[in-house]
Amino acid sequence: MRFQKNELAVVTIEDMGSDGFGIGKVDGFALFVKDAVVGDRVEARIVKSKKNYAYARLEKVIEPSPFRVEPKCPCHRQCGGCQLQALSYEKQLGFKQDKIRNSLIRIGGFVPEEVDRWMEPIIGMEDPFRYRNKAQYPVGRDREGNVVAGFYAGRTHSIIANTDCLLGPVENEAVMERVLEYMRENDVSAYDETDGTGLVRHVLIRKGFASGEIMVCLVINKKMTDMSDESSHFLPRQDRLLRKLAGIEGMSSISVSIQTERTNVIMGKEIHTIWGKDCITDTIRARDMERPGWPYTGRELTFHISPLSFYQVNPVQTEKLYSLALEYVGLTGQETVWDLYCGIGTISLFLADRAKQVYGVEIVPQAIADARENAVRNGISNAEFFVGKAEEVLAQVPEGDGAGRHPDVVVVDPPRKGCDADCLAAILEAGPERVVYVSCDPATLARDLRVLCDGGYAVERVRGVDQFGMTVHIETVVLLSNRE
Ligand code: SAH
Repeated sequence: MRFQKNELAVVTIEDMGSDGFGIGKVDGFALFVKDAVVGDRVEARIVKSKKNYAYARLEKVIEPSPFRVEPKCPCHRQCGGCQLQALSYEKQLGFKQDKIRNSLIRIGGFVPEEVDRWMEPIIGMEDPFRYRNKAQYPVGRDREGNVVAGFYAGRTHSIIANTDCLLGPVENEAVMERVLEYMRENDVSAYDETDGTGLVRHVLIRKGFASGEIMVCLVINKKMTDMSDESSHFLPRQDRLLRKLAGIEGMSSISVSIQTERTNVIMGKEIHTIWGKDCITDTIRARDMERPGWPYTGRELTFHISPLSFYQVNPVQTEKLYSLALEYVGLTGQETVWDLYCGIGTISLFLADRAKQVYGVEIVPQAIADARENAVRNGISNAEFFVGKAEEVLAQVPEGDGAGRHPDVVVVDPPRKGCDADCLAAILEAGPERVVYVSCDPATLARDLRVLCDGGYAVERVRGVDQFGMTVHIETVVLLSNRE
């Protein structure tokens, strides 16, 4: 061990790891420094020391990197949600481009020259703040016993008070301040996870950026059997809360979610609307990604979003992401397309008017119910949806049969853990002409691309779309073609 815990070290940061830590070396010994950015010379305090490397905390910036900027959020170091706020946005994009490239090379085992041939410039955000349409604030008590809402301090469950996260819209602050005011004025308790007592656990806020509609859902620790009159007594003096919230411009839906289990799962499955509508709407517009400036094509789709539905969190970038996927898919109108991991059918419906037929597969039944409604709402009749595991449903497709369900193109958009091995096997078995892989984790993407390439596919194009400015996360779209 080169360093002892709590020792101070001076180090120049030469690189950044995929988790956003700055990496530097002292006599060949690697230091991972949280909150340090590439190009900084820093003094860092060792927090954990191993044989060949150590983790450290930024103590002082001795010489700032040319890429260092003043973080806008006073809480960014405690929170841990924005790992890259001290790095200029342009450099964040460079970091993400490298993250995709390095994963393909190191994890996928692809040759650097071919990776550089495939990769197109990352699509960044015009404004990397205030982009999230969804926020979930935990509610609790601070050390003095005051009711507060904010975020969990990195890797703990103690709440740091902050009602204005700079990644969300400005309205969130007003919503949260009014909820807290209502709780203080009416002695409404906050949930205490150490003993499972108290009422209000979380507040979910969603905003339809196109419609301007706002939805608030209070997650409460209260059983239905505790209530005498279910329509009016979810919360004490409920009308006072509703009056406060209804005054916020755009307020469209207020609900409660019942969550009485002692778990980290935020939302309970039971939702009751207590004011306004059950859903808010949002619109996604298609862009022409082949023309400079990516102009809107005039085509748009409308979606209903309920408290429990999955929906992309960055609506502005989602338009670019889906439009890019559409471009990569390259439809002529004759194709049968399978959209695996389809959620509420957003990608499927985006592709439908350029395809002969689209089939979506998703494991959550409620999402498929939403997908079917969204198809009807948008007048789309050539999209069909199945509940099930992607790997199982695709494997059941009969080959070259009269029903014509055999895929010409497969689109996958799996969660972070990537595609199941059986799903990749089913894709190889079906042998579509093209595969478009939409991924939120470059590491599992690289792993899965290796399997597809060993199975007869070739990568044609790769492009990152930044959906999560200030964080280390990145979305990637890949086009593969069948070599046979
Ligand atoms: N394409 C959608 C959703 C992507 S999120 C959109 O852009 O909105 C990934 C989805 O995969 C989630 O909705 C999740 O419920 C679903 N999922 C997870 N494992 C799955 C599996 N084995 N088969 C099918 N769907 C799965």
